[in-house]
Amino acid sequence: MTNLVYSCQKCGTCCFEIPNQPGAKRIPLYPEEVDKLISIAKEYNIRFAVKEDLVFPDELNSKIIVITYRIILEPSGHCPFFITDRGCSIHDHKPYACQAYPLSLKRLDAFQFEITIDPLCNFVINNYEELASKSLKELEGIFIEEFPKAKRFYEKNKKLQYKILKLEAENKIKIAREVTLEDFNNALKKWKRMELRVKVKKGELEE
Ligand code: SF4
Ligand code: SF4
Repeated sequence: MTNLVYSCQKCGTCCFEIPNQPGAKRIPLYPEEVDKLISIAKEYNIRFAVKEDLVFPDELNSKIIVITYRIILEPSGHCPFFITDRGCSIHDHKPYACQAYPLSLKRLDAFQFEITIDPLCNFVINNYEELASKSLKELEGIFIEEFPKAKRFYEKNKKLQYKILKLEAENKIKIAREVTLEDFNNALKKWKRMELRVKVKKGELEE
């Protein structure tokens, strides 16, 4: 049993790049989140740009399937929606990754993810010993608001995974399982893009 309950220290660290790793902070966005943030950025006159993040080469159609993008950080190393002294300026429209933070999804292989804790959060650093021994069930009681959001984040990835496998089973796409770096880079240069989108309702896994 633990009395530990997550409380954000509002230090803003999670909106900045990782120290000594310029540009390394990864804020993944699904394509529909990019659409939403483009219009918010326009409204608030914020410079917002993304680059591709999780992609799969589809050998059958010679296309790059885009699952997620990532936010390009400001030259000073923070998310463009971060405002000094105020923190996040899009609190009600934060991407999944930020809503769930400091819980995040750890990629196990091309298709498998698991819910984990980001060791770079200052709350996590300050309580690391205690948190390191906790089960997923116990984390649910510590990260009361964030855990359901991390679960939705996980469900969304799971649903994308199902969609890819279904499209493969129907012979509509063929994801390269083994590809050299050279071939992958060539495909990135030459092939057109196709975004994969799914909707997830609370507690729902199937389409
Ligand atoms: S969207 Fe908000 S919470 Fe997420 S990294 Fe940017 S400023 Fe921080
Ligand atoms: S690093 Fe952790 S404690 Fe600091 S603002 Fe981000 S979530 Fe809150």
